[in-house]
Amino acid sequence: MSGLERGQKFMKALYGKGVFPKLTIYLRTLLLVFGISCSLLLIMFCILFFAEAKGWLDSQENARTVTLAAIVAGGMLLSLLMTVAINRLVMVPMRHILDAIKLVGQGNFDVRIETDDRSELGVLSASLNQMIESLGNLDKMRNDFVANVSHEFKTPLASIQGCAALLQDENLIPEERRQYARLVHSSAKRLSTLSTNILELSKLENGAVKVQPSCFMLDEHLRQALLVLQDEWQKKDIELNLELPEVKYCGSDELLMQVWLNLLGNAIKFSPQGGRVDVLLEKLPSAAVVTVTDQGVGISEAEQRLIFEKFYQADTSHKTEGNGLGLAMVKRIISLLRADIEVVSRPGEGASFIVTLPLTDQTG
Ligand code: ADP
Repeated sequence: MSGLERGQKFMKALYGKGVFPKLTIYLRTLLLVFGISCSLLLIMFCILFFAEAKGWLDSQENARTVTLAAIVAGGMLLSLLMTVAINRLVMVPMRHILDAIKLVGQGNFDVRIETDDRSELGVLSASLNQMIESLGNLDKMRNDFVANVSHEFKTPLASIQGCAALLQDENLIPEERRQYARLVHSSAKRLSTLSTNILELSKLENGAVKVQPSCFMLDEHLRQALLVLQDEWQKKDIELNLELPEVKYCGSDELLMQVWLNLLGNAIKFSPQGGRVDVLLEKLPSAAVVTVTDQGVGISEAEQRLIFEKFYQADTSHKTEGNGLGLAMVKRIISLLRADIEVVSRPGEGASFIVTLPLTDQTG
């Protein structure tokens, strides 16, 4: 190993991953200054010893000049070494950090600060890398959201536009006119549901929705939700199997109603004509468990990981009504209520959504 390589190894041990990786910059600098000062003292001592041997220090004036020259040379060397050391220890990593922050400020979230150092600056760099990654994810989510919203708006708008153009034809027979008007109506309804859902979700995500607790009977609450959806389950001739013992719950009835409407709505929507939907309520010592089970198309394991994402729809053909925001809202509400939701399903074998609501002392 050459002298240079040995020196580099020593520097690496001092600054990087080597034997002192956990020493603070302060300690490393102290160690460095101490080492350099000792070496300089040794050099000065050698110079003086050499001068003495050569007889340069025979007069007092000569001795003073040589000592002064040794001190000046030593001081200059010390400053040079200190500058190099501080530059390597602090300035270079700081410059990397500043360059990265500048790039992030310009919207580049792919930038990462290289660091294998575990000192304060290394920790700072690692934290900044994490922050940049989160910002990048947020930026991607925002872009995806805008793309999804535009996509979801486009289809009903195109259908309204097309039908409106067709309705201008005076030769249309009444049945055709009615059909186009119905299409305009359903597309406008879809747009209205979409914008309401986006607003609701945004309020939920911004923390603008506060849980207004009230105590009510969960069994009654679930029956009310089924009543709201009566048209849907009757149209599909769904058989309802209800096991709803009396359970008192304290929480936000408005938010929880949205959970039931979404879960029950989906169970009905994804059930075959004449299918069966089970709604089961159980009271445990510290929780109430509601299970909504259907015998519909089911959800694969891969899809189960995605269904709570905004705009996710397993079937993108829009054969079933919806915009992929329902379960995202459910998830948000469930976390606001400090509850839990779980899905158990297999493709073709229906799905069960299990909601566990904590029961507080107030519930009695
Ligand atoms: P959507 O408006 O499409 O119903 P959701 O967020 O409520 O949006 O659901 C997201 C997706 O999850 C649905 O498009 C569907 O693919 C799947 N999903 C939800 N509930 C069920 C269910 N009970 N059976 C089968 N698939 C379901």
